[in-house]
Amino acid sequence: MSGSRERRRFDVAGLVQGVGFRPFVYVTASSLALTGSVANTADGVEIEVEGDPAALDEFAERLRLHAPPLAVLSAVRSRGVPVRGGTGFTIEPSRPAAGEVDAPSTARVVRTFASPDVATCADCLRELADPADRRYRHPFISCTNCGPRFTVMTGLPYDRPATTMAAFGMCTACAREYADPTDRRFHAQPVACHDCGPRLWLAEGGETPSGDASSEEVLARARRLLADGAVLAVKGLGGYHLACDAGNEAAVARLRARKRRGDKPFAVMVPDLDAAAALVHLEPAAAAVLTGPRRPIVLAPRRDAGPVAPSVAPGVPDLGILLPYTPLHVLLLAPDADGVGPAVFVMTSGNLGGEPIVTDDAQARERLAPLADAWLGHDRRIHMPCDDSVVRVVDGEEVPVRRSRGYAPLPLALPFEVPATLAVGADLKNTFALAEGRYAWLGQHIGEMDDVATLEAFGAAERHLELLTGVRPVELVADRHPAYRSAAWARRHAAGRPVRTVQHHHAHVAAVMAEHGLDGSEPVIGIAFDGTGYGLDGAVWGGEVLLADYKGFRRVAQLRYVPLAGGDAAVERPYRMALAHLHAAGVPWDDDLPPVAACPPAERSVLRHQLVSGFGCVPTSSMGRLFDAVASLAGVRHAVDYEAQAAIELEGRSRHVPEPATGYAFELSCAHGDDVAPAVADPAPVVRAVAADVRAGVPAGVIGARFHRGVVDLVAALAALARDQGGGGTVALTGGVFQNALLLSGARRELRASGFTVLCHRNVPPNDGGLALGQVVAAAAG
Ligand SMILES: [Zn+2]
Ligand SMILES: [Zn+2]
Repeated sequence: MSGSRERRRFDVAGLVQGVGFRPFVYVTASSLALTGSVANTADGVEIEVEGDPAALDEFAERLRLHAPPLAVLSAVRSRGVPVRGGTGFTIEPSRPAAGEVDAPSTARVVRTFASPDVATCADCLRELADPADRRYRHPFISCTNCGPRFTVMTGLPYDRPATTMAAFGMCTACAREYADPTDRRFHAQPVACHDCGPRLWLAEGGETPSGDASSEEVLARARRLLADGAVLAVKGLGGYHLACDAGNEAAVARLRARKRRGDKPFAVMVPDLDAAAALVHLEPAAAAVLTGPRRPIVLAPRRDAGPVAPSVAPGVPDLGILLPYTPLHVLLLAPDADGVGPAVFVMTSGNLGGEPIVTDDAQARERLAPLADAWLGHDRRIHMPCDDSVVRVVDGEEVPVRRSRGYAPLPLALPFEVPATLAVGADLKNTFALAEGRYAWLGQHIGEMDDVATLEAFGAAERHLELLTGVRPVELVADRHPAYRSAAWARRHAAGRPVRTVQHHHAHVAAVMAEHGLDGSEPVIGIAFDGTGYGLDGAVWGGEVLLADYKGFRRVAQLRYVPLAGGDAAVERPYRMALAHLHAAGVPWDDDLPPVAACPPAERSVLRHQLVSGFGCVPTSSMGRLFDAVASLAGVRHAVDYEAQAAIELEGRSRHVPEPATGYAFELSCAHGDDVAPAVADPAPVVRAVAADVRAGVPAGVIGARFHRGVVDLVAALAALARDQGGGGTVALTGGVFQNALLLSGARRELRASGFTVLCHRNVPPNDGGLALGQVVAAAAG
């Protein structure tokens, strides 16, 4: 050996486990004739390489530039270490933690990222379809580039013993691939085949599944059942789905009734992009998300035709669509030789009402018994529940609606360092976040915090994410709402740690700021439109303009308060909000107006008494409730089965109408002089104009279009007003109302035309599913 031999150590942090990183290191080092070793540790990957200095430089370069596609390198530290000699390059067993005792304390924060689940890759799909391949039609085919990760991980480092694959011994052929550094399945933890399992099973009715059916027999029977209109519980990556033929109205209606689902739309799974394009209009960015490795449900404008029964998604303009993301899905959706079975499936979470998704086989048999006719399961355990993610694409940009499978638990980079924090989010669409240093890890979608099962699911998910991230929170953050169960959970589990609170809409705005990496030195104009959030004055806020940085905010404008009578009743029955707005606008409740006619006379008189006396009323500035009121006034919908249903249907009607040059105008009254009171946008003129148009027989779609245009113009006017008050040139749009594509698109266009920089959500949802991120940064700065 020449005297110029050197040895270097690399500590790599980030998403480097379960993504084929060690094989890549092995192949790279071997090809450069370097000796040494690589190992997974709890902190990432540790590499030592020895050889010619030029080859070591080349190694460092390739590490940086040619890492596997799924890898994310958040930090690479390297230093020289004493030469050791030796031959060959080895992959060593995983070590529980880095052995370095002199590491700086911040090194603990730069740790391994656990990988999300990844949809079946193109190589595996090719083998799945190849009769000559030994994994031909194997329902669990996967490799280092794809397959289950987050949902099967029981700990770190990511190795087979720390997954639910630990129960399966590898056959000789699989073991050979697993140990071969040149193989695509080198150290692929979920590696399996027909010989070594896992295995499918099918159970019909109360039967116990027969253990000896082949996977082909199981699949054929499952497809036959679906073709005959059965509801099938199908075990997926993050839980059970309920599936049925989306073209069979009787089957879909039966599933809807059993699930007590009301009108809430179902998503559908189709075999490929062509089948998707036949059902919905897909812009290129939407097609890319639909076919990408994360495989969320994509909400896209539906086409009129297509084999989708009316009960799949009644009354809504968009259809939620997703492609197969496990080999089992692929096999289930592929047409048989004899053409048996549907091509479009309803795929909905396996649960009843708002309960958490079912993951356990015994629970699935028991709890889904009232819903399913048969069960298609397997013996690979799901360790972590994880619902499907949902996104939509507006003007070519992805807007997350639910960030869960395929995204969790990837961290988001933060613009500044934060202490170890747990943010518990909100009570609706709950998602929590753990954060430390420059990263925030958002957990999977938990849902509505309204029952014991969901609170338990929250606790289990939080403990698991602590395990995977190593974050040990020293403080907790919750919403200011005094009655939030999420906040109560935080107080119950604080164990002496401080529980800080952040105002709801401030957290929304801070989340957008953090996503865009703002350092917070300049305030932004935060426009937060949503259904409900607890205000500083105890009112229900939701139509707010905040001049905000991370530390705090000043409320510079609001929608005018109207009384919200009867809490949940006002949300479930939009006609009550319409009557409240008519009352506030001085429009008499005449029977020719749709919401007046929709409200039973007895309820009407109680409501009138409440609105006049203020009894049982809370003031609200909610933009979400104003959308509900206008939807009811226009006769679109008077009662809802799910949140925002009326607004979604109003948007749907409005999309098919050319955008009017002017919309209904809000009356904006500005605060004067040194007055610190916020400016007020009064919707009364809007409400009067809508009532007049309804009486003039103007179609609901046109009313909706004029209303959307009016809100777009209001956004532009409010931003201009806030700029005059020192708000600068950056506007952050947030809150669930901005899931409305028509509004988001119009508002962004008008604001840009007025010279504003417009920041929208791209990594976390504008709805309360993104709140925890904002709580993290606002609490750390405050
Ligand atoms: Zn693969
Ligand atoms: Zn095998």
